[in-house]
Amino acid sequence: MKDDLISFKKLLEKNGYKFTMGKRIVLKTILDSKTHLNVKEIYERIKEYQIGLATVYRAIKVFNKLGIVKEININGISYYEMKIFSGKPLHIHFKCFKCNSIIDLDSQSLNFDYLKLNKKVEEENNIVIYDSNIMFEGLCSKCREELKCQDQQNLEE
Ligand SMILES: [Zn+2]
Ligand SMILES: [Zn+2]
Repeated sequence: MKDDLISFKKLLEKNGYKFTMGKRIVLKTILDSKTHLNVKEIYERIKEYQIGLATVYRAIKVFNKLGIVKEININGISYYEMKIFSGKPLHIHFKCFKCNSIIDLDSQSLNFDYLKLNKKVEEENNIVIYDSNIMFEGLCSKCREELKCQDQQNLEE
């Protein structure tokens, strides 16, 4: 087993779960993905391994419970991304109204400001933050460009 999977194995076993082949493959799929995936998309990607949809659901449920993955709700559908050991820090999300894409806003300086914001909220309210979900919504750059082109066309017509 590769090093990066051993930490997950330990965490699962510590909490009384077996790190089955199904869980391993589901986890690898999320780890290797550059985008946020929903259960169906994960299932589609690993169908060749004969892993059923129910297994994917169960694995995700466990990962979510243990804080391994982060759940992002978009139009009533849950999408998942790695939360720990992913090398990716806490980040802000952006959702495009038009194409529904979810973009990670994770430049270094933004992440730094985000951490600062978390700290500030903790200090001012005397609380501890375990997780946070900030989602900006609007138009992504691609859709903005498309709209601009359309406007241009409308003007010329
Ligand atoms: Zn868009
Ligand atoms: Zn993300």
